[in-house]
Amino acid sequence: MAHLDCDAFYAAVEKRDRPDLASKPVIVAYDGARSVVSTCCYIARISGVRSAMPLFKAKKLCPEGVIIKPRMDVYSAVSKQIKALFEELTPLIEPLSLDEAFLDLSGTQKLHGRSAAQSMAWLAAEINRTIGITVSVGLSYNKSLAKLASDLDKPEGFAVIGEEEAMRFLAPRPVSDIWGVGKALNRKLSSDGITTIGQLQHRDEADLVARYGLMGSRLFHFSRGQDDRSVKSHRKAKSISAETTFSTDIEDTGILRKRLWPLCERVSERLKRSGKAGKTITLKLKTGDFKTLTRSHTLSRPTQLAETLYQEAVPHLEKAAEGRNFRLIGIGISSFGDLEDADTPDLLDRKTSKNKDIEAAIDAVREKFGSGIIGKGRGLKPD
Ligand SMILES: [Mg+2]
Repeated sequence: MAHLDCDAFYAAVEKRDRPDLASKPVIVAYDGARSVVSTCCYIARISGVRSAMPLFKAKKLCPEGVIIKPRMDVYSAVSKQIKALFEELTPLIEPLSLDEAFLDLSGTQKLHGRSAAQSMAWLAAEINRTIGITVSVGLSYNKSLAKLASDLDKPEGFAVIGEEEAMRFLAPRPVSDIWGVGKALNRKLSSDGITTIGQLQHRDEADLVARYGLMGSRLFHFSRGQDDRSVKSHRKAKSISAETTFSTDIEDTGILRKRLWPLCERVSERLKRSGKAGKTITLKLKTGDFKTLTRSHTLSRPTQLAETLYQEAVPHLEKAAEGRNFRLIGIGISSFGDLEDADTPDLLDRKTSKNKDIEAAIDAVREKFGSGIIGKGRGLKPD
């Protein structure tokens, strides 16, 4: 189980978009007599500024702070980009807010050919590289501990809490670290002489339930590092997509094609893993001046094949390119249909069944030796 939390999210996005703010204390807040701090950067925190603090107090502590009005539309767009990267690792995602989520990575090790820790390290680096903000990651065997772990060495933290050390790790921590312990319960516990989780570890479950009701049972189990809540990813995906932002704009269609291919492979991999096949293929391009172009095409039968995605998208790419510079390319598939109809060969279409066989062979090798080991020629050549 992993918990990922962006570092000073709103402030980090503001600093990304305004390099002149990089070394300044940034406080994101609506400016008003009664407003509070939404987020502040780590430089502002040195002066004692904290989120949820009244803004007038923050200004007193940090008079040189740059106050910036929140741009929620931008933050939510960035949040979507982050989520798209999560989806490359696992479909089991439970967002807690715009900048925070649980990811269940059990069972993904075989698929990605790397451990949960390696996958999360990749994810943190990828978010930093493509989105330009930093995150902190916590890994553990359950939700409560993963969330505590992600907070341990923020910013850019990466912490793991193992099962053997959980009791010892929890013992000195305040009871308010337990999920669901709010101000009222915290007061009640402290008036009963309980301030640390370690003190709860010495109590009987029956006693705790008698005193604190249903919550008593949670206190008993969580204090021992037991939490069997699972990741709740309710929403069923209506589409699957992958995209990449270039470090410098690209005009050459040959290079754009090369960037497109691994995205087709990623989407295909996720289709195959989730047992889905789709009919509508959408190519997405963003120009150097931030105009988004999308080109969709619907097939007569659903597909899971990277090759089909690629072949359908390339003509649209070549038509749309025409001397323009692009900063992003993406490919998506939607209109999920019956898997039984997907990529079935017919008499006129020998190629589809051949492609299906080739991809099945590549998938089998990857399953065994890891994803980097084999690919189609176009994915391997340098630019
Ligand atoms: Mg955060």
